[in-house]
Amino acid sequence: MLEKILSDLTTTNTQLVAVSKTKPVDHILEIYHKGQRVFGENKAQELKEKHSQLPQDIEWHFIGHLQTNKVKLIAPFVKLIHSIDSWRLLKAVNKEASKQNRVIDCLLQFHIATENTKFGLDITEAEAFLTSPEFQSLEYVRIVGVMGMATFTNNTIQVRSEFKNLKGIFDQLKGNVFPDSIDFKEVSMGMSGDYAIAIEEGSTIVRIGSLIFGRR
Ligand SMILES: *Cc1c(COP(=O)(O)O)cnc(C)c1O
Repeated sequence: MLEKILSDLTTTNTQLVAVSKTKPVDHILEIYHKGQRVFGENKAQELKEKHSQLPQDIEWHFIGHLQTNKVKLIAPFVKLIHSIDSWRLLKAVNKEASKQNRVIDCLLQFHIATENTKFGLDITEAEAFLTSPEFQSLEYVRIVGVMGMATFTNNTIQVRSEFKNLKGIFDQLKGNVFPDSIDFKEVSMGMSGDYAIAIEEGSTIVRIGSLIFGRR
């Protein structure tokens, strides 16, 4: 299945994050040996352990809700945090990154689904915060794009419209907040069930777990 996904991605500008949450290191190594180097996890402690047990050239992405007190577990090595869903969290990441003397790339997670259980920011608040002096002072985080999860439904019209919404948020922030930034370029959307639609709607990063690793 990895081969099929990669072939779907070859003609696009989209990167694959293989979501390995709950899967054992042996299984991750198997996928690693097929050439995959970017993996995603949603629990800080699990990510820390897997990072220490697996090859050091893996790029680890954090994709789940992150508690501020867990940031320190992943700050030394995490390549991209997809799930900045509060300014408090962004400030915590900045603080831990500064202790490591590194800049951590982050995506802002927006709430695009109709389910009210999903975490995420609000576009109006985001524009206000990102143009504030307080944001300017966060020197150890770099905002490289946005992330969102569509509603879990078979209704492809709804899923497409939610992805369009996220791409619209990206375009708005690009235009109003990051017009001169070459770093602000990522739209992380699309999972096992909806990645084809996400790519059509402008995804630059898909996060795929069960299609690669099997059911959890
Ligand atoms: C689990 C997870 C995925 C992958 O889901 P699949 O349906 O297994 O592809 C993607 N994004 C996030 C945020 C996740 O938690």
